[in-house]
Amino acid sequence: MNIDLPRRNLKTKNFVVKEGTLYISNRFFFKPSVQQLTYSIKGRRKCFYCGLDFPISQMTLDHVYPKIIGGPYIPNNLVPCCQMCNGMKADMTAGQYFQFKRISKTENKVNFVKDLNHTREKLRKDGKSELPKNWIEQIPTKEIRFHTIKIKERAWNKKQEIFLACNGHIPQPIVVDQELKLIDGFHWLIIARQYNLETVPVIRLENVKIINKRSFEILLLNGQ
Ligand SMILES: [Zn+2]
Repeated sequence: MNIDLPRRNLKTKNFVVKEGTLYISNRFFFKPSVQQLTYSIKGRRKCFYCGLDFPISQMTLDHVYPKIIGGPYIPNNLVPCCQMCNGMKADMTAGQYFQFKRISKTENKVNFVKDLNHTREKLRKDGKSELPKNWIEQIPTKEIRFHTIKIKERAWNKKQEIFLACNGHIPQPIVVDQELKLIDGFHWLIIARQYNLETVPVIRLENVKIINKRSFEILLLNGQ
């Protein structure tokens, strides 16, 4: 899939947007770059959910498909959101939240959330994703590349390992660039390899390219 990018070319110290491709010199710069890109595409004052304007200091970025189901940190999945709406929406998808808002009785709201959590748990166990189908593909685990020099995340995640041991798959996609270089989902990938999973669900960002520092510097100097 392609991530949403501004139409015009852009150059910053962390990323370059050139003719519809996002170049980044290190995967740890991906999140701050995406934050900046999202604000430049969607603004940062008007809340996506209640439509009101707020001071920038009171605004957050909300995952349309929440993190807990593997909603990626990409402009396509992020919207400017006020703190109150963000708190109310919690781990619902945007679609579920709009449904939730239309329910008037508190009791019905509570049941709605209960049902959601129940369905979600089942989907996770069955290896079905709530994310749009055309975002995800199955890729051989061994083809995903660690490109990074320093690996920050050392802590082992026992919960994730237990999930995989019990269910035989990982419940959310790993995020990679166009050349299958890892962007997000380090722990899941490590455990998937440990358990010899042949394939893993992957969100492949076709218009994102992680390049080495030297190539990035050349791009900064030469690019338009
Ligand atoms: Zn709001």
